[in-house]
Amino acid sequence: MRLLISKINMTQPRDLSALRHLSPHPAKPRHKTREVRVGDKVVGGSNPVWVQSMTTTDTFDVEATVAQIKRLEEAGCELVRVTVPKPEDARVLTEIKKRIGIPLICDIHFDYKMALMALDHPVDKIRINPGNIGGSDRFRQVVRKAKDRGLPMRIGVNAGSLERELVEQYGFPCPPAMVESAIRYIEMAEKEGYHDMIVSLKSSDVLTVVEAYRLFAKYCDYPTHIGVTEAGKPPYAVTKSASGLAPILLDGIGDTIRISLLGDPVPEIAAAFDILQATQRRVRKPELIACPTCGRLAIDLEKIIADLEKRLEGKKTPVKISVLGCVVNGPGEAREADIGIAAGNGKGVIFRNGEIVRHVQEAEMVDALLEEIAIWEKDQGGEKPGNGDGRTRLPLLK
Ligand code: SF4
Repeated sequence: MRLLISKINMTQPRDLSALRHLSPHPAKPRHKTREVRVGDKVVGGSNPVWVQSMTTTDTFDVEATVAQIKRLEEAGCELVRVTVPKPEDARVLTEIKKRIGIPLICDIHFDYKMALMALDHPVDKIRINPGNIGGSDRFRQVVRKAKDRGLPMRIGVNAGSLERELVEQYGFPCPPAMVESAIRYIEMAEKEGYHDMIVSLKSSDVLTVVEAYRLFAKYCDYPTHIGVTEAGKPPYAVTKSASGLAPILLDGIGDTIRISLLGDPVPEIAAAFDILQATQRRVRKPELIACPTCGRLAIDLEKIIADLEKRLEGKKTPVKISVLGCVVNGPGEAREADIGIAAGNGKGVIFRNGEIVRHVQEAEMVDALLEEIAIWEKDQGGEKPGNGDGRTRLPLLK
């Protein structure tokens, strides 16, 4: 009898009326955070999600450290952190700061005296790990000095170095324990009248990272620095970072980002910008849609995409371009993109804003697409944010 009822229910049409009342735009708004100034950047609020990295040199080796920061700057890095484990590292912070063009953050673990020393130099932010700084009195001393200097601080909670007492209480360094740790130190700092804080809740475990940031956002409006720590060696580390950071970014959380890669930090920058682009939290270049190709392929798609990528290099327009290899999905995707081409048998039809604008031979496709992109840009009044009408869904943020 029960089997019969479930079979009957399965044949009933589902009530889909609620779907028609849902927003057709899938993006969630940015989590509202307060603004904290770090050098010439304002972190939080509606400011861009800034891309950060960290040097791998001995900080006291000024030449090597400055050279690496310059390479990071050239790659687009917007905030840089250097480790300060010894007095000789603290002593060169003034010299490093003089020679670089982006805000300088000093990273302190274990020794609060290093934090106090570093704060004697013109750094733009201090990052401390409250779990290993040596207790609340020492933490308060660092807060007071940061406050006197008018400098912001990152409370960098890390699952690997959470206070023992919290680990014992929760059983292991889980998201609630990490959030409690962060809030405990935030409240200590607030009692000192200090509010220039940015918070990170990092772990090498993707699930822990995602839940820790989501949970923290329910309690606080302090901006967050997001990252999956110790992600390891690329390319897996980039995939792992994207797996952890995309859900957070799509929830509207995250105000600065770092992709932690083993080795040279310069590739961290492109990886961070790609994750921001894919999640549409910070679009700084055209979005190119291409199919994987299959036996139906009607044009040399790989060559066309390679040419197009090369000729679009450096372009910042948030235009969505679709180039598909045959008529299966080509027209549908081309209509949905800002500029699209539906190919078939060595030729193609170009769409602009969903309308067919011209027919081209395969050899002319790249030139024609670039001409259409130029017309589209002109129509938009140049490199401007999308108008959110459902077609242009890629907001351009600085
Ligand atoms: Fe294959 Fe055409 Fe789909 Fe490309 S668009 S994967 S060529 S079916």
